[in-house]
Amino acid sequence: MMTINLQRRALLKAMMLGAGAMALPGRLLANAGSALHWQNWSGNQVASPEAMHFPMDEDALRQILKAASGTVRVFGGSHSFSGLVPTDHTMISLEGMSGMRRHNADALTASFGPGTRIGMASAQNWEIGQSFMNEPDINLQSLAGAVATSTHGTGTSLPSLSGMLAGMRLMTVDGEVLELSEADGDLFRAACASLGALGIVTELTFKNVPAYRLQDETRVMGLRDAMDLMEREHDKTRNLEFFAFPRGETAIVKITRTTDEPDTPPAEADSNELLELASDVSMKAPWLIPAIQKAVTFFVEEEIRRGPAHVIYAQKRSVPFNEMEYTVPLDKGLECLEEVCAKIRNDRMNVFFPIEFRYTAADNSLIGMFRGRPGASISVHQYHRQEYNTLFNAVEPIMQRYEGRPHWGKLHTMDAASLANVHPGLETFRTLRRQLDPQGKLLNAHLRHILGEPAA
Ligand SMILES: Cc1cc2nc3c(=O)[nH]c(=O)nc-3n(C[C@H](O)[C@H](O)[C@H](O)COP(=O)(O)OP(=O)(O)OC[C@H]3O[C@@H](n4cnc5c(N)ncnc54)[C@H](O)[C@@H]3O)c2cc1C
Repeated sequence: MMTINLQRRALLKAMMLGAGAMALPGRLLANAGSALHWQNWSGNQVASPEAMHFPMDEDALRQILKAASGTVRVFGGSHSFSGLVPTDHTMISLEGMSGMRRHNADALTASFGPGTRIGMASAQNWEIGQSFMNEPDINLQSLAGAVATSTHGTGTSLPSLSGMLAGMRLMTVDGEVLELSEADGDLFRAACASLGALGIVTELTFKNVPAYRLQDETRVMGLRDAMDLMEREHDKTRNLEFFAFPRGETAIVKITRTTDEPDTPPAEADSNELLELASDVSMKAPWLIPAIQKAVTFFVEEEIRRGPAHVIYAQKRSVPFNEMEYTVPLDKGLECLEEVCAKIRNDRMNVFFPIEFRYTAADNSLIGMFRGRPGASISVHQYHRQEYNTLFNAVEPIMQRYEGRPHWGKLHTMDAASLANVHPGLETFRTLRRQLDPQGKLLNAHLRHILGEPAA
């Protein structure tokens, strides 16, 4: 999220160490309580399943599905904050079905195993002279997991991963494999953002573009200036986003364009130690938050990085947090963000982590966040050691008033009835899901809640 000016690190660290008591208990790890244990990236979702499987091919997966009793859930990189994955019955990882399988240089497509992490896939794309159209800000998610939740980056003309698909293989709970492409209409559109509720994806084919290199510029400025820049430049800049610090009224802006200029040297690894420290101090001494957020203009280094697209997209997120994100219609995004920031400021909320603000193009998925309309995504983060409900409960109604659609992989409180108001494709999705999995084998408690199916 931030690259810290190394010369200023020691000074800032000393200032903040003086500002707050530092001794915090270690991160609480959920007690497994059984031989098998799963938890997501931030630790807010846990499960102790009866069985966990790692099939290496479709035949092995089919056997597992045939033998499984109770709920079956697949997990990818376990980077979702919402309850899409956990079940106490059967959990399956397709990590063993990873890597590029084939590509077509004329059509600019590439097909991958579902467990391929974005980072591996984009590096393999590079080797064949292709790149993904866009990427999110980390690359540790699996391709199938990222597609299932419409994971996105930023760029007014660039779609989410759900909008980059040419085709896929989907295994139903009965073990039948469906080869899907745009010609399959609503079924393909549903599978492009499936929440893992329709079947198990065993291959994904992406529409790529010729390999490109990027220049990424980080600037720090006042929050108002960042909003004005976004409004003025978003349709002239390939990838534009900013991180807003509402209580300090500051922002970190990232401006990314294609380039032919030479690569910059690899950046010195940043441990994110100062971000952790700032979060710890803010949590314990909330009256310091405005001052610490103002100080980002001092300790965040303005820098330029250049290199292959997949190298420049990937960021490091080593300080855990929990997150809520809503996507509102693009032309309402800044107005909605202003209200969210005003709420955080007026209520003097105890949060140091910035709000990420991004634009994404419309896609044709049935229930993705960008279905049929370009979106402005507002991502609110809370430090992992802090209780997050106070913050999320305060800002969620604002984003809902702007016809916000929650990110499927992030925290929200919407149910099937309220989701139907913002997702015109939800009813068709539910019908298709019932046809593919009439017994609801793939439904855990969270999916039942958001899809309006009775509890098991
Ligand atoms: C640090 C961090 C940064 C993030 N940055 C971004 C970002 O920049 N943009 C953004 O949009 N989101 C972002 N996210 C959210 C993340 O991209 C999504 O939650 C994504 O779905 C996680 O992918 P995963 O591989 O970890 O999947 P998981 O969380 O493991 O699973 C997600 C869903 O995919 C399903 N699934 C997985 N594999 C399959 C399969 N083979 N077949 C069918 N269903 C399957 C699961 O059942 C589940 O429903 C971020 C999350 C974190 C923790």
